Amino acid sequence: MAKILLHKDALYNNLTILSKKTESIDKLAPVLKDNAYGHGLEKMARLLKEFGIKKVVVRKESEAREVCELFEEVIVLGEVSSTPLPKCTYTINHIDDIKKCKKGMSIELKVDSGMHRNGIEPKYLKQAIELLKRAKIELKGVFTHNRGGDDLSSSFFWQRRGFEEIKTTVLGICKKLDIPEPRFHSLSSSGIFRTKKITDDLVRPGIALYGYLEWDDVFGDVGLKPVLELKARKTSTLMLKKGSKVGYSGVGVLKEDSKISSYDIGYGDGLFRASEHFCACIEDGREIIGRVSMDYFSLLGEDEEITVFRDAKRFAKQFKTISYDQLVKLSSSIPKEIV
Ligand SMILES: *Cc1c(COP(=O)(O)O)cnc(C)c1O
Repeated sequence: MAKILLHKDALYNNLTILSKKTESIDKLAPVLKDNAYGHGLEKMARLLKEFGIKKVVVRKESEAREVCELFEEVIVLGEVSSTPLPKCTYTINHIDDIKKCKKGMSIELKVDSGMHRNGIEPKYLKQAIELLKRAKIELKGVFTHNRGGDDLSSSFFWQRRGFEEIKTTVLGICKKLDIPEPRFHSLSSSGIFRTKKITDDLVRPGIALYGYLEWDDVFGDVGLKPVLELKARKTSTLMLKKGSKVGYSGVGVLKEDSKISSYDIGYGDGLFRASEHFCACIEDGREIIGRVSMDYFSLLGEDEEITVFRDAKRFAKQFKTISYDQLVKLSSSIPKEIV
C-alpha cells in the first residue's frame, strides 16, 4: 500500500525554529486546517500536543471537534456557530456573522487590511465592536491576514503598518466602551520569517510547520525540514522492448529495451497527474513514464518501494504550482505512520 511517513524529528525541528522566532512556544498557534495540509489532522494534533503546543487553528467546527480535547484553545477561521463548542473561538469574517453568534461566546474579529478577501473593513470596526458588546459576545482577538508575505514587493510592510493603525483604533474603541483589550495577530509563515522582532500576541504558522517557505529567493534557507514523505509500493514489473508504449493513450514510449514497474498511487489518491503535458520526476530523479492513472503510475526499475516525494515544493513546481496545493490534495485515506 502507498503510505505517508510523518517525520517527527523534522516537525520538532520546525517547531523549534518557529518558537525561537516568536521567543515563546505559547505564542505559536499552528494551523491544522484542511486535514493538516494533507498530513492527517489527528496524528499531527497529537504530535503538537506532545511538543507542548496549547492553541491551534482550524478552518471548520468539525475539525475543531476532533482536536479540542487536546488543546486549551482552538481558533476556527471559517465559521461561527450558534451552538459553540467549549474552548473554541470562532471568527467573524463579515459583520453579518455577529447575528449568528450566541451570547457569551468568544470570537476573533477578522479585519481586512488590504488582502480584500474577507474580514471587516476598518471603517466598520466601531460598529462591529458595539454590536458585540450589545450581544454580550467576548472580543477575544482581532486579526488580519497578509496578501504579500511571499512577495519581494513592499506590500507586506504597508499592510503591517495598516494593522498597527487598526490596533490603535481598536484599543481606543475598547477603552471608550469599557471592554477588555483583545489580543492581536497577523502573521502566517511567510510574515513570521519577514519580521525581525515579533510583537503580536500570537502567530499562525501553516506551511512552515510542515517544512516549507514557498519562495527561496525571498527567504534563503532558514533550516525548515519537510515532515511528509509519500511512499508507494510496487504492484508489478514488466520487461518491455524499445518502442513499447506505456499507460493510457501510449504516451510513454520506451527509448530502449527496459524493465519497468508500476506503483500503487495515482491521481485518485490526490497525486498530480503527470502526462504528455507535465513531465515529472519522483524524489530520486526518475521520470514518471507516460500518464499517471487513477490508481497507478510507472517507472523504470524494479524497487519494491519508492519515495514519490519528500520535497513537495520541488514535486509541485513540475506542475507549475505550490507545495500547499499538492499536500492538501493527498487523500485523507492514505495510511499514515509516524517515524
Ligand atoms: C491558512 C492561513 C494561515 C497559514 O498560512 P501559511 O501560509 O500556511 O502559513 C494563517 N492565517 C490564516 C487566516 C489562514 O487562512
